[in-house]
Amino acid sequence: MGIVICNRAGGVGIAQGARVLEEGGLALDAIEQGIRPVEADVTIHSVGRGGWPNLLGQVELDACIMEGRALRAGAVGAVRSFLHPISIARRVMERLPHVLLVGDGAERFARECAMEEGENLTAEAREAWQAWRAARLSEDELARWPDLSLAPLAQDAADPQRTHGTTIFLAQEAGGHMAAGVSTSGWAFKYPGRLGDSPIIGAGCYVDDRYGAVACVGQGELAIRAGTARAVVLYLKMGLGLRAACHEAIDDLQAMRDDLRSFVMIHAVNARGMPYAVAWGDHPNPRYWMWQDGMGAPELCEAEHIA
Ligand code: ASP
Repeated sequence: MGIVICNRAGGVGIAQGARVLEEGGLALDAIEQGIRPVEADVTIHSVGRGGWPNLLGQVELDACIMEGRALRAGAVGAVRSFLHPISIARRVMERLPHVLLVGDGAERFARECAMEEGENLTAEAREAWQAWRAARLSEDELARWPDLSLAPLAQDAADPQRTHGTTIFLAQEAGGHMAAGVSTSGWAFKYPGRLGDSPIIGAGCYVDDRYGAVACVGQGELAIRAGTARAVVLYLKMGLGLRAACHEAIDDLQAMRDDLRSFVMIHAVNARGMPYAVAWGDHPNPRYWMWQDGMGAPELCEAEHIA
């Protein structure tokens, strides 16, 4: 039995991921092939090319990939001039003795691997950033740009497309081996160099074939602080059912009593290939895509919602 699930934004790639498994391929290939079309879609403003930039107008991309047999993982953060961070993350996992590369080092490695370079900032995203900035700064501040403190602006950074944020993919191939991947341009107008949960193994993504695969979208700072993806897998290990394990992780998020500025949505597949997703917080319409062996086309499923 094979299964692929992804969040709403992943809809443009799930057919490719499903095809890999239908043809008897690997979960890792389903993840990479599913995420690449999402990264290439310029209408999705929280992933890849077309993503909203940071406060300096630079698109900084983060991604990770993990497999559940040997718990190997690779991740990249703040990549600017390459089009497919998920593919760079996979090469970090396969070719380096490291897990996470950021910035210049990640770009150097991507070049060594002959990854595709390109401009990720589209005209539409540049205009959205300029308008956002102009609405918040005085003429004097605009004239001094970028020689002013960006920190006050970061307080206001928000993801204008949060219902179609970051993409996550989880896959299980025939035989039970699992993999997971995440790719994002992060929160719109974030402070330069900011990493969310997406490239942090254990926060935005975790997989262990014995228990399940988990990935998160939403306010990454919360998932980092609670170690959300790893927590769900640990709760599964401790014997909780899939839904109970996800709810326990939501309980950890709630216990932080933080300002709820957004939402966290947890996607999970257990070792038996059962999918489940739950959104906590300000999420208008939480749904996710699912494809299983024997299904003609992927199906949009309702996630549970905890306000
Ligand atoms: N989790 C992502 C981040 O914090 C954002 C998102 O999922 O919308 O970068």
